[in-house]
Amino acid sequence: MTTVRNHDIATLRQLDMAHHLPAQSSYALQQQLGGSRVITHARGCTITDGEGHSLLDGMAGLWCVNVGYGREELAEVARAQMLELPFYNTFFRTATPPPIELAARLAGLLGGDLQHVFFNNSGSESNDTVFRLVRTYWALKGQPQRTVFISRRNAYHGSTVASASLGGMDFMHVQGGMPIPGVEHVMQPYHFGEGFGEDPESFAARAAAAIEERILAVGPENVAAFIGEPVQGAGGVIIPPPTYWQRVEAICRKYGILLVSDEVICGFGRLGAWFGFQHFGFTPDIVSMAKGLSSGYLPISATGVSREIVETLRASGEEFTHGYTYSGHPVCAAVALRNLDIIEREDLVGRTARDTGPYLAAALAERLAPHPLVGEARSLGLIGAVEIVAEKGTNRRHGKGGQAAPIVRDHCIARGLMVRAVRDAIVMSPPLVISHAEIDQLVDTIKAALDAAQAELA
Ligand code: PLP
Repeated sequence: MTTVRNHDIATLRQLDMAHHLPAQSSYALQQQLGGSRVITHARGCTITDGEGHSLLDGMAGLWCVNVGYGREELAEVARAQMLELPFYNTFFRTATPPPIELAARLAGLLGGDLQHVFFNNSGSESNDTVFRLVRTYWALKGQPQRTVFISRRNAYHGSTVASASLGGMDFMHVQGGMPIPGVEHVMQPYHFGEGFGEDPESFAARAAAAIEERILAVGPENVAAFIGEPVQGAGGVIIPPPTYWQRVEAICRKYGILLVSDEVICGFGRLGAWFGFQHFGFTPDIVSMAKGLSSGYLPISATGVSREIVETLRASGEEFTHGYTYSGHPVCAAVALRNLDIIEREDLVGRTARDTGPYLAAALAERLAPHPLVGEARSLGLIGAVEIVAEKGTNRRHGKGGQAAPIVRDHCIARGLMVRAVRDAIVMSPPLVISHAEIDQLVDTIKAALDAAQAELA
């Protein structure tokens, strides 16, 4: 039996039940299953649990381990930085070398007017920074009434009070009295779910028009910003029609509204470009980054900010009274810098665009799209989803919906593949180092799981 830190796995699972509250979990189910699944080690694209099961990690941890597991150089760089300077803060105009270098590096990748970066520890915190920064900006511009954020239903922007409010997950809002005032949610660009049979371009126009209608309803002079994920990840890998984002950008410009791109999942190569806004061809004023920034090796997030916003803060002479003890943590920033080196050195962005992304798309189209349970199999770069339907050729779901995907997911896990179920879809987001053979394994395992689920769903 595997032993970790002096505890065998059976003991760990007992302790997990007795003391540990895992994130986004049902504690009843945790009890029922005898504790959490304990992952003990990982290499490349494979994770191993305490019972010794190896699984292909079709989720890159939580959409984040872009360079794969087991990168010794990331551990070495963390060790060296810990010995040199394990911590110093960035409060009151102080800094350390790694976050300064990382900010400059990110400015180069973001390009254009996005030349400044604010550091946080998580995607949620980055979006909290967005919340305060945007409202501060408008107050300094003499338009303090511009407080309203427009977001989409089924968006995910994090789990803190502000970021979950920006998000459009009803099941999160019911806990804790969210959304907080000043956040408006409009329809999402979910063609399969909400525009089935409609021409994708007219659907894109309709989804974008919903934003404009809400702006007009709220009063353009009251709207501060629009926030969106280029591709909604946690909401079920919602890939908008190609012109959606350009339409959104035009609407934001028309009314002078700030445009925020939440790149927490899409950034750092996931879509085959450094950032999702580059893939879709729009220019945001603010960018939230996390996850792939350090490939999850250490917690760090970054908020990219346009020159205009920074110059407004500068001109005001006021302090931005916001920041976290670990904003710009030197060890996390040093690891992020080396992670970016790896992504560049191995051309993981280009490889996703030209090689593995198209390979995954072809495998989904050839091997999964024809399956009787599959309504749509879609992907962009190395993120994808398989929609499960009750009747081929429709978007009708099994039962009341949400029933089929967990069954298929469990068959995947039993066959050595970690994927997630989001309502009626199986979603995937593997490490960007995934090989063709591993993509074959991923797709073939989902196919076998669908076959196995078919009888149960009949
Ligand atoms: N924004 C997006 C698009 C995300 O997918 C996530 C997490 O999945 C977040 C924000 C929140 O990031 P974190 O979990 O690091 O707080």
